[in-house]
Amino acid sequence: AKSEGGNRYAVADPDSEARAISRHHLTHHLPSALRGCEFFIEYQPLIRMEDGSIEGAEALVRWSHPRHGVLGPDRFIPLAEHTGLIVPLGRWVLREAVRQACEWQVRGIGGARPLRVNVNLSPRQLHHPDLVDETVAVLEEFGLPAGSLCLEVTESAMVRADDHELKPLRQLAELGVGIALDDFGTGYSNLASLRRLPASTLKLDRSFTEGLQHHPPDPVDLRIVEGIVSLSHTLGLSVTVEGVETGLQAERLKELGCDSAQGWFYARPGPPEKLPMAV
Ligand code: C2E
Ligand code: CA
Ligand code: CA
Ligand code: CA
Repeated sequence: AKSEGGNRYAVADPDSEARAISRHHLTHHLPSALRGCEFFIEYQPLIRMEDGSIEGAEALVRWSHPRHGVLGPDRFIPLAEHTGLIVPLGRWVLREAVRQACEWQVRGIGGARPLRVNVNLSPRQLHHPDLVDETVAVLEEFGLPAGSLCLEVTESAMVRADDHELKPLRQLAELGVGIALDDFGTGYSNLASLRRLPASTLKLDRSFTEGLQHHPPDPVDLRIVEGIVSLSHTLGLSVTVEGVETGLQAERLKELGCDSAQGWFYARPGPPEKLPMAV
């Protein structure tokens, strides 16, 4: 009977239950979930350090699973990447995020400086032959200026790519689309390789932010962040820090010269309607 499904999971700890859902089960249901519009996007504000204003937001995808509740991207992005479904899923995320950014701009949110939207790209998307054409087509469809979109590619994916594989990102960068080097510090780039990457922003991984929470902060941690910021600025890259959870971290990262920040201290990821309140 249908009614038994209603509270079958009600007594279970939702966390341990979620962990128990098999990879196989999730992988199997990804295509129908995409067709059935079970995915949605939350937006997390990106804050300018100099004055605390909001410069944009990162789009973070979630899966509203009919039986297992909301699943975070770490649960299904690797599976979608593995099966190739990341390409249509990523296409959907890009289009929806660009549409949303356009809506914010039309409503005048962000004032004189229009809000930007950041979208994560996985390696499969990076290597897809239609990336440039599709991105340009979506920007044109909604009339969003290229500069209001930033694509985030992890440091490890970018560093692994050779010059030929980086060409699409270079083309997009030339059109004015921002390119962010995501999770910087967790990959294995030698600093000299930064010069050849078509990036406009470096996103410093959360692990560095964590190190600044100590009393007193580890002097080596401070020097490392200071060094990365100064090298980035020399190369013309702006620096965004991830995972800022406390005012102390925010203060220290600002002193170290970081340009913008993202984290629970400012705002958690949330529905697009909440973003104007963060401005
Ligand atoms: P990411 O790109 O590094 O995104 C930042 C993650 O840190 C997000 O996790 C965000 O919710 C979380 N976060 C933000 N502020 C804080 C903080 O102050 N403290 C802590 N502890 N965490 C914070 P989320 O939403 O679970 O996303 C996880 C990863 O999934 C993302 O990491 C990104 O790599 C991937 N992802 C998300 N959406 C997409 C997408 O549309 N496409 C692709 N390819 N990957 C995506
Ligand atoms: Ca990201
Ligand atoms: Ca990141
Ligand atoms: Ca990360």
